[in-house]
Amino acid sequence: HVPTIYVITPTYARTVQKAELTRLSYTFLHVPKLHWILVEDSPTKTALVSQFLSRCGLTYTHLNVATPPVFKTKSADPHWLKPRGVLQRNLGLEWLREHLHADTANGVVYFADDDNTYDIQLFEEMRYTKRVSVWPVGLSGYLRYESPVVTNGHVTSWFTYFRPDRAFATDMAGFSINVRLLLDRPEAVFKNTVRRGHLETNLLSAITTMGELEPKAHNCTKVLVWHTRTEKADLRNEDKFKKRGFPGSNPDIEV
Ligand code: UDP
Ligand code: MN
Repeated sequence: HVPTIYVITPTYARTVQKAELTRLSYTFLHVPKLHWILVEDSPTKTALVSQFLSRCGLTYTHLNVATPPVFKTKSADPHWLKPRGVLQRNLGLEWLREHLHADTANGVVYFADDDNTYDIQLFEEMRYTKRVSVWPVGLSGYLRYESPVVTNGHVTSWFTYFRPDRAFATDMAGFSINVRLLLDRPEAVFKNTVRRGHLETNLLSAITTMGELEPKAHNCTKVLVWHTRTEKADLRNEDKFKKRGFPGSNPDIEV
């Protein structure tokens, strides 16, 4: 049987959200046996996301949990200061632990942020992960790419500028986990309190060792995912309209 890919995506309301989700869903529609777990960073499920999902054509689960204000990135903060999407990814894991059983589950878990860019080949690379697979991530860590270093078919170190001494110096987009491993280790969750840049390594340290990692993407020589970041929408002319006494755009038109 073909293993299912459970994709966990944290998402939050902002002007570009629907555009991001549309682009992401069109990628996922090319991937067989994909179950999308979309988790809103919100105290309630929004109408925009609910309606978007109902017509997206994917198999999905819609969840929500709000990040408490103390853990939220403020607009003045640099984007790397606080980890993002932590509670949302954990809720996705909780859902899997509630709905799947370790003896029958057949699949892998991938944490796909809503603004990255994914080559659909990546999903076939990860699909038959036995424990934990890893691969390079393009445009990550202020480098052209960050990557596991592979020697004789095994991961031996990490090509990153930031803290290559981390046990698992990979970005969220750079690994997938066999779902049974996560069902067997209910204590494996993301922690909001870890030092910055240590979210991934902290989780992976709880479930595997470097020697067990399965390098994918031609021994980590191909970039199949890019850590792209979308520019914030600039709506300055909306305010200018209002200052001139014009009504501005129609709020009933969803963007
Ligand atoms: N995210 C979220 N709540 C937030 C900020 C981000 O749920 O307050 C989500 C976001 O939609 C994305 C993931 O968390 O799927 C990572 O966020 P972002 O892409 O902003 O982080 P970066 O690329 O800077 O690491
Ligand atoms: Mn991002």
